[in-house]
Amino acid sequence: MILALIVQKFGGSSVANPERIKNVAQRVVKTFEAGNQVVVVVSAMGDTTDDLIDLAKQITDSPSPREYDLLLATGEQISIALLTMAIQKLGYKATALTGSQAGILTSDNYNKARILNIDSTRILKELKQGQIVVVAGFQGYRADGEITTLGRGGSDTTAVALAAALKADLCEIYTDVDGVYSADPRLVPKAQKLAKISYDEMLELASLGAVVLQPRSVELAKQYAVKLMVRSSFSENAGTLVWEESNMEKDMIVTGVAHDLNTAKMTIFDVPDIPGIAFTLFSALAEEQINVDMIIQSNSRNEYNDISFTIEKADIKKAIEIVEKVKKQIGAQKITFDEEVAKVSIVGAGMISHPGVAAKMFEALAKDNINIQLISTSEIKVSCIIDSKDVEKAVRAIHTAFGLDK
Ligand code: ADP
Ligand code: ASP
Ligand code: MG
Repeated sequence: MILALIVQKFGGSSVANPERIKNVAQRVVKTFEAGNQVVVVVSAMGDTTDDLIDLAKQITDSPSPREYDLLLATGEQISIALLTMAIQKLGYKATALTGSQAGILTSDNYNKARILNIDSTRILKELKQGQIVVVAGFQGYRADGEITTLGRGGSDTTAVALAAALKADLCEIYTDVDGVYSADPRLVPKAQKLAKISYDEMLELASLGAVVLQPRSVELAKQYAVKLMVRSSFSENAGTLVWEESNMEKDMIVTGVAHDLNTAKMTIFDVPDIPGIAFTLFSALAEEQINVDMIIQSNSRNEYNDISFTIEKADIKKAIEIVEKVKKQIGAQKITFDEEVAKVSIVGAGMISHPGVAAKMFEALAKDNINIQLISTSEIKVSCIIDSKDVEKAVRAIHTAFGLDK
């Protein structure tokens, strides 16, 4: 009798070498032996994806997107083949499938493709034959057959999308920490593991830099009510359940602190204070697919003001080109950019009903003499841009200030 259908995803560090791959095989087989159908999603081994990116860089500054994805997708092809061999060696039936063999259809945009649909016919056929199915994370195919990748950390999204398509009972994300913590445990030794977290809070944390889950995977999990469990592939510890409203943390105003070093700040000085300026500037950036995060415009002095905004580090080169072009158009004087910045954020669903939360965060930063460059808030988060050299100090101070230390 089949108990359940479980999707298990193993990240890069979990399959970093042959020993670890054998260890993963044991885990998978254990779940299968308990009477479940198992679909496994794997990332590339260890730092393979970084290494592949590095190889491409040694050839060219501007690789063609199609060949770039073709290259990056090879990492996951290695790990599915090896993991499948390891499972077979233990005496079980297993099949490795690439993204396209698994029916993962994506949008056309290389490097950042989105999953449009999963045709699960092949996977279901293999499962029915008693196979453990091992699917390559992070990759799919376009309607014209070309191979695409889903953006860094995309294997999480592959796993959740498969869980949704297969109506799996559970999607387990195995990684190198044993759950979602109140802050990155590598940065904050006093961070606490959360037993549960709501989709909304997890989505905010992930979007604000907590790389433990790719934001889109959380979005999908929420949309299709996929029960997500984050846990360690190196221990048997209970993990963190990402699910609907979490009761346990309900009373907490702040659930977690996130930080993001993948941000850069641009400032445009002496822009005339007339209608249409922001539109001209930000539509030019949007046209080139540059995502602008935080924006601040100074008060007008003598009918001029300054505009600062943040973007992803990878977009700096392109952004400078664009802003240099619109500079004349909008009559601005000077542009500066700063890569040495970081975003620190607090997230908590309880925030909306508690005044003074932002002030408390600012107080924690002030006490440590950390200057705030930009601020943005929403119902469930407050973010500040600070100097990147202060990030560790800032996250720890905020964590302590909100009583999150264990
Ligand atoms: P994988 O290769 O398994 O996908 P990642 O490196 O993408 O692993 O994600 C796991 C890492 O996420 C952890 O090693 C940890 O440093 C980081 N992380 C950041 N914020 C958090 C958080 N709030 N809770 C747990 N881990 C976090
Ligand atoms: N291997 C890809 C990356 O390093 C996808 C993933 O690990 O989720 O981003
Ligand atoms: Mg990851």
